[in-house]
Amino acid sequence: MAKFYITTPIYYANDLPHIGHDYTTVAADVLARWYRMTGREVFFLTGTDEHGAKIVQAAEKAGKKPKEFVDGISAEFKNDLKLLDITNDSFIRTTDPVHEKVVSEFFAKLHADGKIYKKKYEGLYCVHCEKFLSPGDLNEDLCCPDHKVKPVTQSEENWFFKLSEYQDRLVKLLSDENDPGHLAVYPLERRNEIIGKLKTGLQDISISRASLKWGIPMPFDREQVFYVWVDALLNYISAIGIFGDRKKFDELWPADLHLTAKDILWFHAVIWPAMLLAYGLRPPKKLFSHGYFTINGDKMSKTLGNVIRAKELVGRFGVDATRYLLLLQVPFGSDGDVSFQAMTERYNTDLANNLGNLVSRTLTMMEKYLGGIVPEGAGGTAFGMEEELSPVPGMFDRLEFNRIAEQIQKAIDKANRNIESSAPWKMAKQNDPALAGLFYGLLRSIGTISIHLAPFMPGVSQKIWESIGQAGNVTAAASDYFAGKAVSYPVKGNKISKPAILFPRIQDK
Ligand SMILES: [Zn+2]
Repeated sequence: MAKFYITTPIYYANDLPHIGHDYTTVAADVLARWYRMTGREVFFLTGTDEHGAKIVQAAEKAGKKPKEFVDGISAEFKNDLKLLDITNDSFIRTTDPVHEKVVSEFFAKLHADGKIYKKKYEGLYCVHCEKFLSPGDLNEDLCCPDHKVKPVTQSEENWFFKLSEYQDRLVKLLSDENDPGHLAVYPLERRNEIIGKLKTGLQDISISRASLKWGIPMPFDREQVFYVWVDALLNYISAIGIFGDRKKFDELWPADLHLTAKDILWFHAVIWPAMLLAYGLRPPKKLFSHGYFTINGDKMSKTLGNVIRAKELVGRFGVDATRYLLLLQVPFGSDGDVSFQAMTERYNTDLANNLGNLVSRTLTMMEKYLGGIVPEGAGGTAFGMEEELSPVPGMFDRLEFNRIAEQIQKAIDKANRNIESSAPWKMAKQNDPALAGLFYGLLRSIGTISIHLAPFMPGVSQKIWESIGQAGNVTAAASDYFAGKAVSYPVKGNKISKPAILFPRIQDK
């Protein structure tokens, strides 16, 4: 079976990573873990985008050479991956020699096939976007709408890609699900915007820069370097060895899922598939573009001093809770707001009070009433927990992370309510023979919850799994569970072991 190939966008290395990047990376990691857990072989790629004028500017500001500068930033991105327990299979840098070679060879073919041409071009260029803007793109102050600065008039002789030739083909492959080259784009309203814009016409695009040195030189025109955006997009095929081991490449291409942010959707849904078609490759199968979040209502920016970095979150909440909290604040695909306060509240309610309390009091009472030994139980499902959680697999496939969290919280609530209504402290006093069955059911519930939480909270899920007396790995148990095999938990006679407090309550300062 072909492997499941999932990517984040490669992140622009002009500044340190922040939670905007981590959000996409964690989402990709949760999915990668989910697909591995459900029997797919996965290849998960992330990396850094390291060329272009903005890198040169940032390096100058830092008093460094561009390569030295991106080496430092790239290392910071790699640190965040470790910090957040990310299981990427590969990390690509666009300054890797293998990538540079792929970009050269890819365009040498397009050059030989007449898909690109040279022409003189004069236009309004935004240095921050690193692209030419059409007069219609500007705001009422005649500035770049994203960067609020006036673009400069720039005239160059550049190489152009015949993007306009792909207009009809792109409309068809984006809109027709039965097209063999279909590229599914989500959310659908963004797909519809793209198709609408496509239908108004498509211009050829410049793919080179003459005035810039920090880029990959064009093999057929040494005066020019490739435009950073077309260079960057090729990472998805250079990282899997398009000109290397063809067997590996064929196992992975076309990519199953590119995660992107909404501002780069046009590059991914239009320019990227057109480049692939020009070369003779199939476009990726699916794109999912997520929204942006603001911090306490403001856009995250250095000037406002509200940039949040992974280590602050991990320092406050721990790695597992950080992964969980990042993904459930905002429906994936929508815009929304996050704040330390909202995350802290959610941490306290969902994790400290609800989940942490369920595990802690169940195991405490078991030690007290049953000597900490898993009793004989009814077997099978407990409290309808498996049914409660049955929508979760479909939600993973639709990237509905916040709904998964809600569903899991409902399941935890249900188990907690069961404790309240059964009142095991009374049952113990009365030597009620149903006590053993109740605790068996609670342990079974806790095990089922930890199986479903494993892609989000791999460390904590494993701890919970072991605490109910299970040996082995929760992800292995989850694989069997989701394959519909019988998984034996809890096991009669095993000893439970109450873990240290899983989620210490956080008092907001
Ligand atoms: Zn701009």
